[in-house]
Amino acid sequence: MTALGSSFEAIAAVLSDALLMIDGDGAITAANAQAVEWLGDSPVGSKLAALCDEPDRVAEFLRYCRRSSSPLPGGFSVRTERFRCRAAGVECDGAGRSVVLRFWRTESDDAFVLLRQTVEQLNDEITRRKEAAAELEAAVRVRDDFLAVAGHELKTPLTSLQLQLTSLSRAATKAGIEPLVATAERAKRSAARLARLADELLEVSHLSDGRLSLDRVSIDLSELVVDVLARHSDAQLRVTAEPGVTGSWDPTRLEQVVTNLVANALKFGGDAPVDVVVESAGPTARLRVRDRGIGIAPEAHERIFQKFQRAIATKNFGGIGLGLWISREIVAAHGGTLSVESQPGAGATFTVTLPR
Ligand code: ADP
Repeated sequence: MTALGSSFEAIAAVLSDALLMIDGDGAITAANAQAVEWLGDSPVGSKLAALCDEPDRVAEFLRYCRRSSSPLPGGFSVRTERFRCRAAGVECDGAGRSVVLRFWRTESDDAFVLLRQTVEQLNDEITRRKEAAAELEAAVRVRDDFLAVAGHELKTPLTSLQLQLTSLSRAATKAGIEPLVATAERAKRSAARLARLADELLEVSHLSDGRLSLDRVSIDLSELVVDVLARHSDAQLRVTAEPGVTGSWDPTRLEQVVTNLVANALKFGGDAPVDVVVESAGPTARLRVRDRGIGIAPEAHERIFQKFQRAIATKNFGGIGLGLWISREIVAAHGGTLSVESQPGAGATFTVTLPR
């Protein structure tokens, strides 16, 4: 057996391709298991030309093998109906030449075509998705612009309405018409809610453009929280505020955060008490707003801080899903964090931490 022949088994063990060995006359002298499987029967003893669609090319190949002692030219290949084969090694011994041929299934061409088609389809899909994403971004920009304009247009008549309701309430008090005072006060509260909504709509474009500037002054967070809560005058609210929780923050912006968190706690907290705690925590100040209401499912914990995202159906509770997004933006602009801990049915605790 030639050196090549003796190493055929070794080569066959390493290469996953189908392998054949032929002698100088083109007779197949060995075949590995893969080649036998692919051909359906052992080809040993048959002529290579009998397996191929191009017998002339096989003859030319064999002539070349007989003539030349140099390595086979790269790329020499013979095509069969089912396979393409390429010379993998050639050796000359006294009896002539032995050639080891590697076989590839021609289906692998089909596989290649399929792969190329899949890649093209994927590229088309990526392009389509990019276009869809660009369209969505444009739609979101249009929405935000529209909301900003709507917020702006609402603000002017609302401010005038609020002023007129204040005058009405004053006049009714002066004239001692109690039912009118009560109605005017209720109307003022509704107008204030509308004004807050208009402000939130305006914030969308401001904050989306990264236009959140802070007017920092030295303030006491406890005093600020107590002031804000006094405006709610709600019996459900309980406050524990450690004195002297001071820092350099924007009071108007922090009022917004406290108002949002407390308004949510009252809205979603049922009739149960709402605890508001302000305390120092080392280098940070901490504000906690805890209610005992409907709570929030864990999968919604992050989502509710995104723009226009809500964890409950609109029909159950009013709102447009901006308060927490704005609050988190404000807290983040201060270098702090706003997070939630909650379980459905077990209430929610929102925690703000602010570097001092
Ligand atoms: P809005 O209250 O206008 O919907 P927010 O951004 O303030 O907008 O809140 C987003 C969502 O987070 C709410 O719609 C609600 O699903 C949920 N959420 C906020 N606060 C609470 C709370 N205290 N308890 C339960 N769910 C809450």
